Amino acid sequence: MPETQHTPVTILGLGAMGQAIAATLLRGGRPTTVWNRTAGKDAGLVADGATGAASVAAAVEKGGLIIAVLSDHASVHDTLDPIAGQLAGRQLLNLTSTAPEEARELAAWAAAHGVDYLDGGIMAVPAMIGRPGASILYSGSQTLFDEHRETLELLSVADYFGADAGLASLYDFALLSNMYAMFTGFFHGAALLRSAGVSASTFAERAVPWVTAMAQLLPEYARVVDSGDYTTPFQPLSFHKPSVDAIVRASRDAGVALDIVTPIKNLIDRQIADGHGPLAFERTVEELG
Ligand code: NDP
Repeated sequence: MPETQHTPVTILGLGAMGQAIAATLLRGGRPTTVWNRTAGKDAGLVADGATGAASVAAAVEKGGLIIAVLSDHASVHDTLDPIAGQLAGRQLLNLTSTAPEEARELAAWAAAHGVDYLDGGIMAVPAMIGRPGASILYSGSQTLFDEHRETLELLSVADYFGADAGLASLYDFALLSNMYAMFTGFFHGAALLRSAGVSASTFAERAVPWVTAMAQLLPEYARVVDSGDYTTPFQPLSFHKPSVDAIVRASRDAGVALDIVTPIKNLIDRQIADGHGPLAFERTVEELG
């Protein structure tokens, strides 16, 4: 059933992200109650029309959808365990970043207390919330997702991945793995070029179109991985070895640490040593898990 225009929400946690979420929901016309462990962080929101609560118990008493935006898995338990008895029949959306197993544990905890649980992975920084480009990945209770979809779409694009509460987090971490590898690759390149007096800004002008062009290869790489057939490579592992070895040599010569490139070299070398050199580079997924 679609929600009414004025679904009340209770935000637990007013760090940078909780503030952004509360402000966006408030602007979207949702009656918004806010609570934070350390007092005083709700002043701006209260001035804008939110209801400040002095305790978690008082905050959730206001009814509606409870949204936890806390530091980590432990802080969700710290906050909700003492009032678990108050939560039966309620709906909990956890936007705190948690590992998949932690999200599943919270879903089981919620079920044991009669709470409907949806987990969310935020793919945005606070300034992006409520603006184009923000995305939040959801899994867990489809009932909760469907019922509150309009409210969730005030925050960002909202995608639901299934009943497994850990799945949104798994997608989140898969995307973040991609992001961290891309950023640290940029840092390595910036360190290399700095040895020749080239600024990181100059490098960035080249790196953005390069990374964008390379990202276009991902669907074809994915097709090969999903086929499980690495025997007709676009570029075999043996093709990549000389390039990566040269990057290692160039890095050593430039006095750049090898923390970023060594794992890539090791992955390629190990597969070649095991006789997989003629196979596609995409076989690396099999080496990882
Ligand atoms: P902050 O560090 O700014 O805020 C953390 C919040 O958690 C504060 O409200 C803090 O309260 C509260 N908190 C911490 N420990 C406890 C505890 N034991 N009991 C009760 N409250 C506690 O983090 P953000 O707001 O930036 O992030 C919140 C969540 O959103 C995190 O899980 C983060 O990974 C995720 N996220 C954040 C992004 C970002 O760019 N900021 C991007 C994507 C996800 P107090 O004020 O009392 O310390």
